[in-house]
Amino acid sequence: MKKKILVTGGAGFLGSHLCEKLLEQDNDVVCLDNYFTGAKKNIVHLLKNPYFELIRHDVTMPFLIEVDEIYNLACPASPIHYQYNPIKTIKTSVMGAINMLGLAKRINAKVLQASTSEVYGDPVIHPQTEDYWGNVNPIGIRACYDEGKRCAESLFVNYNRQNNVRIKILRIFNTYGPRMLPNDGRVVSNFIVQALQGKDITIYGDGKQTRSFCYVDDLIRAMISMMNTPDNFTGPVNAGNPNEFTIAELAEKVIELTKSKSKIVICPLPEDDPTQRQPNITIAKKELNWEPRIELEEGLLKTIEYFKQII
Ligand code: NAD
Ligand code: UDP
Repeated sequence: MKKKILVTGGAGFLGSHLCEKLLEQDNDVVCLDNYFTGAKKNIVHLLKNPYFELIRHDVTMPFLIEVDEIYNLACPASPIHYQYNPIKTIKTSVMGAINMLGLAKRINAKVLQASTSEVYGDPVIHPQTEDYWGNVNPIGIRACYDEGKRCAESLFVNYNRQNNVRIKILRIFNTYGPRMLPNDGRVVSNFIVQALQGKDITIYGDGKQTRSFCYVDDLIRAMISMMNTPDNFTGPVNAGNPNEFTIAELAEKVIELTKSKSKIVICPLPEDDPTQRQPNITIAKKELNWEPRIELEEGLLKTIEYFKQII
């Protein structure tokens, strides 16, 4: 029988790929979004499917529907967008979690939280394991996102402990791919757009900070596998590609793959920018039977092709 599934933030980068995959797997999908950083064009191709519905709604307001599963992705993810209105970002994470957990409790749905590696802040444990509590500045400019997501995790585990709501927490590490907006502001889309337009490639700081980049298709597989784990398994689970690169290496790779003549320029490092980040994915391998399949060069080439079409 078809499952009825709600995806909040479904018109965003990850959400649109998730909606697409869930429809491919023969589910009935409701996409909810307020279009802050998402776009109708990300999901417009799905509208011809009678099992796809689109609802303009803000997760900070209660929402009632009957579904079997809820994927809670609504929240801006790029630093420039989540810092644009930090109070709203906190409200989206916290009130969005309360509203989706309350809904899940009422209708007995399973609910998955799109959490983040940002819960580890600027980590002193490397690579990061799920039992690490993190190193977050609660009053810094990233706190609206980091602490919002940490509070959401706390709400999730407490709805589980107190009310037996079936929860899943997935800690997503830097993910990239087609349908990131050209003005998204995150590093992969910035570098590719700059390289294709022959503009300067903007490295923030000395470029020695590291990230581990996961291609979107791999991440969506992890998300759906997480939702399908047994009810007594709640996570949190790290999902990301453990191959770690410096930002300078990423810039060189993008220049090479686009054959761009762009020059690298050094820009100020934003406050509290984490110096290193790499997931330990032992739990994902064991519990989700998951590991990434698409390495950086292959994923970048697919993403470059996408941006060539749209810019
Ligand atoms: P995105 O900005 O492309 O998508 C977020 C979506 O949520 C957008 O469509 C936006 O319009 C919508 N949204 C924002 N506030 C809302 C609100 N108040 N009500 C309803 N909709 C709202 O970002 P993304 O990369 O697709 O991220 C999706 C989720 O995954 C986010 O929760 C993010 O924190 C999490 N995540 C993503 C990454 C990554 O690398 N892509 C890493 C860690 C966590
Ligand atoms: N970054 C950069 N140039 C850019 C955008 C980002 O050097 O044009 C750096 C940023 O300072 C950070 C890393 O790339 O160290 C990843 O940034 P992003 O915003 O993609 O994600 P996050 O910091 O949340 O991991």
